[in-house]
Amino acid sequence: MEIKRVSCPKCGIVLDVSNNKNEVVKRFACPQCESHLMVRFNPPLYEKLHVKCPNCSTELRVHNRKNMPYRQFHCPTCQKELRISFIKPAE
Ligand SMILES: [Zn+2]
Ligand SMILES: [Zn+2]
Repeated sequence: MEIKRVSCPKCGIVLDVSNNKNEVVKRFACPQCESHLMVRFNPPLYEKLHVKCPNCSTELRVHNRKNMPYRQFHCPTCQKELRISFIKPAE
């Protein structure tokens, strides 16, 4: 869960919004002026993934040390460029 502090662009009230269901986008109504608001959260990411190179089938363990949603690297066996998404699928 992540908490973001946002202010309503219409009435200026400051709100702490949490994504208690780990949603990436949360829509809600401002409690003061009832404007429709939308907050974006960082998507939940895998810390590491076990993947198979689609070219040579080498099994690779990829760590997400920088907490990035994507990582591009070369397969150590066949040198093919691979792109991995660390974004967890929505539940
Ligand atoms: Zn408001
Ligand atoms: Zn490979």
